[in-house]
Amino acid sequence: MPESIEKPLACWKGSDRYGDRILDTLTIIFRTGGCEWNRCRMCSYRHERYYDRSPGELQGLVRRQMQWVNENHSLDGIDMIKIFTSGSFFDPKEVDPETREYIGKMLAGKIVVVETRPEYIQEPALSGFIRSIDTGQWKTPLYVAVGLETTDDAIREKSINKGFSTEDFWNAADTAREAGVGIKAYLLMKPLFLTEDEALIDMENSIADIYRRVDMISMNPCTVQKNTELERYWKQGAYRPPYLWSVLSVLLSSPVHILCDPVGGGHQRGPHNCRKCDRDIVSAIREYSLSADTKILQEAMDTTCECKKEWEFVLQHEMPYSMPLTR
Ligand code: SF4
Ligand SMILES: [Zn+2]
Repeated sequence: MPESIEKPLACWKGSDRYGDRILDTLTIIFRTGGCEWNRCRMCSYRHERYYDRSPGELQGLVRRQMQWVNENHSLDGIDMIKIFTSGSFFDPKEVDPETREYIGKMLAGKIVVVETRPEYIQEPALSGFIRSIDTGQWKTPLYVAVGLETTDDAIREKSINKGFSTEDFWNAADTAREAGVGIKAYLLMKPLFLTEDEALIDMENSIADIYRRVDMISMNPCTVQKNTELERYWKQGAYRPPYLWSVLSVLLSSPVHILCDPVGGGHQRGPHNCRKCDRDIVSAIREYSLSADTKILQEAMDTTCECKKEWEFVLQHEMPYSMPLTR
């Protein structure tokens, strides 16, 4: 019997800003055997995995998801493919080199952006994958996207439990550069245990620290995903996602264009203000992310809504209650 086609966790078309252009994109989220690290406080993607499968079965399942993409989405006119997995694309236990090559060949001629933890950014995996996708059409056919989240090691450790340092990130970035691979950094706005003001300053500092050394920055305002430690705190009233005013403020003060899609924007689990002004601000942020037009942000920031005073009050008066530094 022929093996059945396997549907990826998600797959959708969209568009993204790339340099001065707007490219049509396809985003694919492959289900894999899962993230080896598997313990970040806000992450639910790690639960979206296959359980109890042999390495051989897992590779077959990933390939069949790529077949599904091929059969259900025309790649004509798509210039950029963004790949996510239940963890890291370059973890050979999640996606082995032959499966990577199989996927790469189907995506030849596109710009491919793959998410991975820094410890898997290694040779010869990078050049092997570039060989399968590169047709000479793009100067940089491959980007590695890393969830750096913040440049503050203490926040990354205590508030996120990410398990790598900023130095690890830069070492991986050097390896990528030497292989001709571009670097995209994801930043996480307002992980656990930070006040609104601390979160805002953390993003401003992080952007200032990295913008000269990475090719793209995408800032994710934190959302409360199901079955996470973050959700437990949120249910107890010990966490609130960032205000959209804070997101606007960080984007406005940034020296470079920042990609930002406020997922869950306007909902209690996502970045939100007061409900009345949320929808307009979310669409302004999305429009800016595509157009890089800061006037759109400024106009959104200048709108008057009662909740802006509340946000300003929170910035001034919210107190950090801290975690113990030692056990
Ligand atoms: S490294 Fe990524 S996939 Fe793994 S637990 Fe952390 S956020 Fe989730
Ligand atoms: Zn409002």
